[in-house]
Amino acid sequence: MTAPWLEANHLSHRFPLPGGRSLLAVDDVSFRLHQGETLALVGESGSGKTTLGRMVVGLTAPQSGSLSFAGSAIRAPRREVQMVFQDNAAALNPRHGIGASVMAPLLWTGGLRRAAAEAQARALLDRVGLPAEHFFTRLPHELSGGQRQRVGIARALAPNPSVLVADEPVSALDVSVRAQILLLFRELRDERGLASLFITHDLGVVRSVAQLVLVLYRGRVVEQGPVAAVMDRPRHPYSQALRAATPVPDPDRPRPATPRPPDLGDVPGCAFRARCPQAHAACAVPPPLRAVAAEHDVACHLAA
Ligand code: SF4
Repeated sequence: MTAPWLEANHLSHRFPLPGGRSLLAVDDVSFRLHQGETLALVGESGSGKTTLGRMVVGLTAPQSGSLSFAGSAIRAPRREVQMVFQDNAAALNPRHGIGASVMAPLLWTGGLRRAAAEAQARALLDRVGLPAEHFFTRLPHELSGGQRQRVGIARALAPNPSVLVADEPVSALDVSVRAQILLLFRELRDERGLASLFITHDLGVVRSVAQLVLVLYRGRVVEQGPVAAVMDRPRHPYSQALRAATPVPDPDRPRPATPRPPDLGDVPGCAFRARCPQAHAACAVPPPLRAVAAEHDVACHLAA
């Protein structure tokens, strides 16, 4: 197999908390991403997904471990790795037309003259489904949530990145718009060969965008592997609980309660122990992440 475009090795990051405590937000996370692959980063709020995404785009420095793009260390934001945010309205200047917002990165980092930047911004708006002749001068407040998300994607594509990090890009959208944006992500990945990190708390969208999935709990990888293997037969009790809590089309089908969000602070032994229905004495020792099948790893003493 070719060398990975994005390589994360043993990344960790700890945030200080009031009272002298601290939170280990990301704990010894490693993964590899090749050209054209999408890795879904899954977990509840507070699982470390966003911190990991910010590390990948160079906005948060890991306190230990290493990150590289095509073999070169990522220590600060760089052109090849761009991010799409959940709330793109906050990232857009409310007084500037969206064409100007898409042009900005082309002028700043692309080194293009104004006419060339405008032509490229128009082409990007056309590509993401916002015909430039109608949308170029529109202000952000004149757009719907789905249209603003398309602007965010066009802005992220402007520097012609190789890796896209999308942080909950569809979680604020209604179901029909969500499907359109997910389709756009797939098309762009296939057209441009983008490697993508797709951050989501919603297992329902994982199958439609990703080939690989990494499940995080309290900053630790509890399961990772091909989407089909992890989604069809999750081996870790936390992955199983997430899947069971995923909304289903049949509203009459009973659904288990969503797992409680994690508590703060470090936990000895398995991080999921306090919530795990299968916890036993051996779980006082942290389970290693180990292979249970080809490229399918699980951190649970019971996984087989
Ligand atoms: Fe549950 Fe123990 Fe497995 Fe942790 S190691 S997930 S507590 S069975």
